[in-house]
Amino acid sequence: MFLFDPRYMMLVALPSMLLALWAQFRVKSAMARYSRVASRRGLTGAEAAAEILDTSGVNNVSIEVTNGWLSDHYDPSKHVLRLSPQVYSGRSLASIGIAAHEAGHALQQAANYAPLVVRSSIVPLAAVSNLALPILILGLVLGKLMLVNIGILLFLVIVVLQFVNLPVEYNASRRAREALLRCGIIAAGEEGGVKAVLNAAALTYVAAALGALLQFFYFLGLARRSD
Ligand SMILES: [Zn+2]
Repeated sequence: MFLFDPRYMMLVALPSMLLALWAQFRVKSAMARYSRVASRRGLTGAEAAAEILDTSGVNNVSIEVTNGWLSDHYDPSKHVLRLSPQVYSGRSLASIGIAAHEAGHALQQAANYAPLVVRSSIVPLAAVSNLALPILILGLVLGKLMLVNIGILLFLVIVVLQFVNLPVEYNASRRAREALLRCGIIAAGEEGGVKAVLNAAALTYVAAALGALLQFFYFLGLARRSD
């Protein structure tokens, strides 16, 4: 089984884990640093997001508080921006940056930003793609090439989804920084802190995408050998 394959450990599991750990470390250190730096204007994350949406003419989005550290997200189907308590009521550059990033997703939706449209159309497939690994393993064990190919195809959906995430996430951060400056929520000198937090958060998506790609190539190799 591939979990006992030393090549899987060396070429897939270990590099993926190191990438993920490195990204997590970057997020934690950026958060630790900029959670303590208050913005000069002193808005909370929720106030900043509301002002960005307001001044951008997006009036159909509500802002709610949700539990969990870094659980912040935008729900495009319900038009709800959910912010963690620290971000919702926090006045630090980290809180404002994350709230603005989530507002950035709402701006993307309002602008019909193409990668977000693509992501939304693939997301329903993500549930099915959870079957990728079981189907693949079953196919390899039974020696059924058809099943192996279906597994590989489903795995490809996961990889595509992870890579479509990247432009969506980086673009939301860019929109966030532009809006924060345009609204005067942060001054030019405060942009560095916001950028550091958002870039670190984006790294977790890069790590996930590269990890999925490594896994995909490994399984592709397995499938070819079992052919
Ligand atoms: Zn995001």
